[in-house]
Amino acid sequence: MTYAASVAAMAEHRKEHGLRPSREDAEAAVRVLLEWSGDNPDREGLVDTPARVVRAYEEFFEGYTVDPADLLARTFEETNDYDDLIVLRNMRMESHCEHHVVPIIGKVHVAYLPANRVVGISKIARVVEVYAKRLQIQETLTSQIADTIQEVLQPRGVAVVIEAAHMCMTTRGVRKPGVSMLTRKLLGEFQTDPELRRDFLSSVSVSTGGMG
Ligand SMILES: [Zn+2]
Repeated sequence: MTYAASVAAMAEHRKEHGLRPSREDAEAAVRVLLEWSGDNPDREGLVDTPARVVRAYEEFFEGYTVDPADLLARTFEETNDYDDLIVLRNMRMESHCEHHVVPIIGKVHVAYLPANRVVGISKIARVVEVYAKRLQIQETLTSQIADTIQEVLQPRGVAVVIEAAHMCMTTRGVRKPGVSMLTRKLLGEFQTDPELRRDFLSSVSVSTGGMG
């Protein structure tokens, strides 16, 4: 049996029994990639690399173990009728693209217009982090953050802007360093109120030219 065929058979077995691959399975897969790249996985510098890579994956993808909706469950209604824009700017975001499993590094800006209740600001940052620590394309990440805040908190509107560089574009493929990708998702009053949209975009210093 070829290695690929035995891996496929194990995957089938896991699917039948609802199992995840073991840590040993994951480490063995990294070893194959190292070998396939042309190096010797038994040399001193690489011998612990499969274990290290698997531990790094646990950090990179820890978002799968958290339900982002739970993070927004606790809200505060004592706001002295504060009903204006709440903006979190320049949250650093580290994610991985689902096509190449290489880093996407950038900034996230999130705004919402509260309707009677607000949430602790660190919770918004955690929602960003939980989605970022999953495999992504930037478009999905942008939507997921906005949609979750809208659904759980039910504010009058949510706006999310992400500006990020994709290592799959800067270090391989078309090799275009310095290019960043801008995505945004606007919900509720951010969609219907151009002035609010402009306020938000200028507060995060995103150029409205072509985007506004
Ligand atoms: Zn990619």
